[in-house]
Amino acid sequence: MRNQNAVAKDYYGILGVSREATDDEIKRAYRKLARQYHPDVNPDPEAHEKFKDINAAYEVLSDDKKRQIVDLGGDPLSPGGGGPGGGPGAGGPFVGFQDIMDAFFGQAAGGARGPRPRTRPGADAILRLELDLNETAFGVEAPITVDTAVVCTQCTGAGTAPGTHVATCETCGGRGEVQSVQRTFLGQVVSSRPCTVCQGYGTVIPTPCPTCAGDGRIRTRRSLTVKIPAGVEDGMRIRLAQQGEVGPGGGTAGDLYVEISERPHDVYSRKGDDLHCRVTLPMTAAALGTRMTIKTLDSEEQIEVKQGTQPGATLRVRGKGVPHLRGQGRGDLFVHLDVRTPTRLTAAQEQMLRDFAKTRGEDVAELSKQGGFFSRMRDAFNGH
Ligand SMILES: [Zn+2]
Ligand SMILES: [Zn+2]
Repeated sequence: MRNQNAVAKDYYGILGVSREATDDEIKRAYRKLARQYHPDVNPDPEAHEKFKDINAAYEVLSDDKKRQIVDLGGDPLSPGGGGPGGGPGAGGPFVGFQDIMDAFFGQAAGGARGPRPRTRPGADAILRLELDLNETAFGVEAPITVDTAVVCTQCTGAGTAPGTHVATCETCGGRGEVQSVQRTFLGQVVSSRPCTVCQGYGTVIPTPCPTCAGDGRIRTRRSLTVKIPAGVEDGMRIRLAQQGEVGPGGGTAGDLYVEISERPHDVYSRKGDDLHCRVTLPMTAAALGTRMTIKTLDSEEQIEVKQGTQPGATLRVRGKGVPHLRGQGRGDLFVHLDVRTPTRLTAAQEQMLRDFAKTRGEDVAELSKQGGFFSRMRDAFNGH
């Protein structure tokens, strides 16, 4: 039995799930954390480390066999203390598993397992896309640059150099596992463990592809166009099927999620599909009423300010907000009105206002005579 030197990592703790978590819960926890710590979104170097841990934890807990190892106190990613994917002969990640199974259940539990496939599905990827309000409102075809693993162009995923092929592993005869017969107090027991020469694949690559070193995939930067539908909101994600990471051996790519990040607009703030803006009117316009032209996202609207409009009044322009993502129609546009009191009056303007106030019975002398205005104000300050 091999020594388990490495301390097993707390993979459940890393994802923040219970040991009883379902596959779905694990996936959800992973996606949530991956979104939070992905290097594209979070430049903090510690986040980068954390992201690696999260991925490792997901790799382990989403795989029934690896999860079983964890549940038995082992660490499927560190056979003998090494990291994942050690060099040839380092022993595949299943060696630790086999040892633990042997220790707990005796060799018979090893059971028969075929060679593991070289081609495995790839992981999902996420990318953040900044858009202007006009683009989220009406949709856009946005160019994006994606950094992911893609199928190696030279070997098209096979991992072999041009003109060469994989060869059946001589050590295990292509079964991916080797058997040994032992005499124990229970009698003769046949146990099998993954072949360390081919790492359980059953085949070896005598001459690896020089481009991908046998992995069947290479990292590359691609340009794509993503179609953003009208009405998307900040934080929403668009899924591009199979545009994520290609798996080992050129395996089916995971999905790519494009997360929308809406830039703040100069004039409009967005609440759901409604838009809000503030307009300041001169006191005279508020008092006399006026018409004004509002530039919406896609049109110009005449709106009428009624005579005697108060500060804080709101006008609603129906159907001039953001189009609903699902279904017909659009949100509304709300114009919040402020009223500006004139300052720096000329002598003539001041006199006009004093005369005006007098006709309204609002001049200072009148107010103090009445006592009404000032007593109301005093009450307001005293709190009753
Ligand atoms: Zn290649
Ligand atoms: Zn082998």
